[in-house]
Amino acid sequence: SDVVKDSDPMHVIHVTAEMAPIAKVGGLGDVVTGLARACLSRGHTVDVMLPFYECIQRQQVVDLELVSTYNSYLEGEWIPVNAYRGVVTGIPVILIEPSNQFFKGKQVYGGCYNELEAYLFFSRACLEWMQVTGIQPDIIHVHEWQTGALPLLYWDMYHHLSLKKPRIVLTIHNMEHYGECRQEQISKCGLDGSAYATVEKAVDDRTIGHNPERLSLLKGGIVYSNAVVTVSPTYLKETLCSGWLAGTLIKSRDKYFGILNGIDTTMWNPATDVFLPAQFNAHNIEGKKLCKQYVQRGLGLISEASGSGNQMPDAAPEVPLVICITRLVPQKGLHLITHAIKRIEELGGQMIILGKASDARVESEFKHLADLHNQGPSIRILLLYSEELSHMLYAAADMVLVPSIYEPCGLSQMLGMRYGAVPIVRKTGGLADTVFDVDEQSNHHEMTNGFVFEGIDEGSFNWALDRAFTYHREKPEEWTGIVRRVMECDNTWNNTAGKYIEVYNSVRVA
Ligand code: ADP
Repeated sequence: SDVVKDSDPMHVIHVTAEMAPIAKVGGLGDVVTGLARACLSRGHTVDVMLPFYECIQRQQVVDLELVSTYNSYLEGEWIPVNAYRGVVTGIPVILIEPSNQFFKGKQVYGGCYNELEAYLFFSRACLEWMQVTGIQPDIIHVHEWQTGALPLLYWDMYHHLSLKKPRIVLTIHNMEHYGECRQEQISKCGLDGSAYATVEKAVDDRTIGHNPERLSLLKGGIVYSNAVVTVSPTYLKETLCSGWLAGTLIKSRDKYFGILNGIDTTMWNPATDVFLPAQFNAHNIEGKKLCKQYVQRGLGLISEASGSGNQMPDAAPEVPLVICITRLVPQKGLHLITHAIKRIEELGGQMIILGKASDARVESEFKHLADLHNQGPSIRILLLYSEELSHMLYAAADMVLVPSIYEPCGLSQMLGMRYGAVPIVRKTGGLADTVFDVDEQSNHHEMTNGFVFEGIDEGSFNWALDRAFTYHREKPEEWTGIVRRVMECDNTWNNTAGKYIEVYNSVRVA
């Protein structure tokens, strides 16, 4: 095969709150699994340590076995912990099960225990496991605020005990969650919480002078890690310019990297996708036309011109079909999504929104829009989460819309592109790093692959959408070229896992 093998294999242990598919809530779970798989196939040894949530389905873990029982510290006591090994979609996992109430409940997050204290305990229990088993990886890779205390525990405690070899890499997937924490909570896992209440360490910079009690596990993690990664080069720049963590990140500039996430090409491949009524690839997109017709018929989307006669209204192969698949939260540009409905209808296109709201007001706003439009010929608003439907929609779409206000990386535009949907995106974060405007003179023609706008106002959005529609209607040959180019973009881990290996190599001990 053409898989790259790295010359100097190393051992990486991920310590994480999520892993797809056994404990996935969002992109974090996908990234851990995708990166772990890519590193394994390049010849490295990789383990993923995560809490043994009660909601994990045991039958999804192959060869599950109890490998050690040990104690880990919590508030002056030593709590018994079971460590299990197993394999999940080919990736070795180590599941950490404390004997108290931590991680019990029906879901990954939101159980009846103190989440912050549970993850502080988990962070220490992972290091304790390495200490008692003598297993010392080259790299401990932690993710998000949940495991932000591990670098503190490592350098201020376990490195003075028997762990000497590991170096720590932290990936930040979304800077909005910074692990707000009180000193006394840090003390519960055996560190001296008051020692971290300084600007240089973990104090929350927004409260300096009036509340040194408030700490941030994410800030502490940044300060104490050997390298810090965020999920796109543009998001890296944005986080250096705004947000209260900017100061800390600027001080950490020499060890701070932006590396794009990849998409999982085993799960997402239009040439083999079992959810699709017809398969296709960049060289033969006949199957994509069938997918579009299938979705239009299935949802009753018709050409308005043909809807009036007596005969059965036909699906409309020539009408541009735009999709938007997203969590319905403010970050995603809700006002532009609702505006798009109106504008696409005016331009004679079709639009399908597949989205789930967590906020009741947003939910009812979109429900109202669904009632207004779902009987008509051209707009469908589907307020549910459906993995299967998402595959079909990416395959059916001519264009995929991602008008986010901010977007650390974004998977939706990459998935749409792989399925031949041309992205229309706001120029922010990972969207700016993956979509290059067709009309931008400075872009090399072969790399152009979509339509980009900058403002957060309706005018800016219209400008991009209108251009996309004009290309689709009036320049069919150029459009076909764009579709081929989006399908040929390599947004896979093959492309970016090597950058993580470089970061690992830059900090590991020879
Ligand atoms: P975020 O991680 O902020 O939600 P991303 O674009 O990085 O945004 O990832 C979103 C992922 O979730 C994509 O794979 C997208 O297809 C999927 N998704 C979002 N909403 C839905 C939904 N309602 N049904 C099915 N899949 C969805």
